[in-house]
Amino acid sequence: MPELPEVELARRNLLKWLRRGPVLRTEAEHSRAFRGAEHAQFLALKGKVAAIDRRGKYLLLRFADGRGLLAHLGMTGRFVRRPEGAQVPYSRARFVLEGGQVVHFADPRRFGRLEVAPADRLLDLPAVSQLGPDPLVDGLTPASLAKAVGGSSQALKVALMDQGRLAGLGNIHAAEALYRAKLHPARRPRSLTAPEWTRLSRGIHASLEFALSAQEGEEIQYVEEPGAENPFLIYGRAGERCRRCRTVVRSMIQGGRTTHFCPTCQPRSGKR
Ligand SMILES: [Zn+2]
Repeated sequence: MPELPEVELARRNLLKWLRRGPVLRTEAEHSRAFRGAEHAQFLALKGKVAAIDRRGKYLLLRFADGRGLLAHLGMTGRFVRRPEGAQVPYSRARFVLEGGQVVHFADPRRFGRLEVAPADRLLDLPAVSQLGPDPLVDGLTPASLAKAVGGSSQALKVALMDQGRLAGLGNIHAAEALYRAKLHPARRPRSLTAPEWTRLSRGIHASLEFALSAQEGEEIQYVEEPGAENPFLIYGRAGERCRRCRTVVRSMIQGGRTTHFCPTCQPRSGKR
């Protein structure tokens, strides 16, 4: 499932593809990606793309004529570029470009979302305005992390995934950051010490940077997909041995999601 790094990579690809020339026209079927009148509004998008930004897991496209598009990849959405005429499975919406190229929004499971709004209103849309700070866009320091997450009464990992507190982390990077920081996922945010917030802030940055640098090229793979390799340190590694201490990696359910952790490196007491 796409998290901050995959969405950021999608942003970089879109920037590369869409800023070369104008969007000649858009195409889309009626699908769950659109609600209400937005399918028709999407079909009216065209022309030069002036800017593409990201906040958390949202992409914000601004067209030069003042129109804007908010895009969320959902669970399986991705943007791919193909020559005109190529069949793309699960293509829900398309930007037709000059030079015979088409950028598809492909989304097998249809949890993705495309919403048209004036470009200068994108940040005011509820989905975006309610987001917490973005680790890359806003920068993340131990102090700003403690401010964003420290007031939560939920378990630390659940709090890290709360987009209203911190934007961009999902099940993978919350687990990876906690492992890197040697913090138990069920710790209470209030119980963290200043050095622990520092470790967690570093863990988040390291985990995101790793994922950004691990993917090369224009085809972004999601780790849950069949045949995809798991490049992560702790995510999806229950039953394997911790690469730091050789303890068997454990899993538990938190907030309906599976969390992986090392019971030795990430002790509940926080004495490490
Ligand atoms: Zn360990």
